[in-house]
Amino acid sequence: MRNFGGALAAALVGAYLTDVWVSGIRGSTDVLTRILRGGEYLLSVQGVVDHVLNPLTHLPTWLLMGVIAGVVAKRGWNSVRSSLWLGAVLSALAIAALLISNPSLWDSPERNTTLFLVFAQGILLSQVSLVTILPTSIAVEVLTRGGTVPPPESILTRCECGAVFKSRPLICSECGRELGTEDDCDTITAHA
Ligand SMILES: [Zn+2]
Repeated sequence: MRNFGGALAAALVGAYLTDVWVSGIRGSTDVLTRILRGGEYLLSVQGVVDHVLNPLTHLPTWLLMGVIAGVVAKRGWNSVRSSLWLGAVLSALAIAALLISNPSLWDSPERNTTLFLVFAQGILLSQVSLVTILPTSIAVEVLTRGGTVPPPESILTRCECGAVFKSRPLICSECGRELGTEDDCDTITAHA
């Protein structure tokens, strides 16, 4: 579910920014309309042609979506799952936009072909976002791991009488000495 959540956030932001970029202040500018229109454009033939002819215009959007989705992805194959979700969410937005502009599509004979093509396009195109999903997921993992101390692998408490415990007892069960303070006992904490 974390992959889906990240991909959903990425798709909404990406589609919104795309529509701001492509449509500007033309037509309706409410958030939902922009998101649907942007998602439709990203996966449309016109959008794909624009990507190829002018990659610098649209590549940043895909890379930004990859960064957003990558924040919650785990490194490795899990990142691919995020990119697939991103493709699926964008496809769902595009299909919703298509159906709103042309409700008769649902009953037309081309419905299944259209659904298939939009999803195939969405899944394929969203693989571009892997370029930033992969490094982002690794960077987040390194940063979060660096901030936390790993739990000790083992704890050994040695009493002056020679007894050794694999815990931190308050009183030595061999001699009855109190082991509560550092002076009385020698605690060894081993890290991996
Ligand atoms: Zn003892």
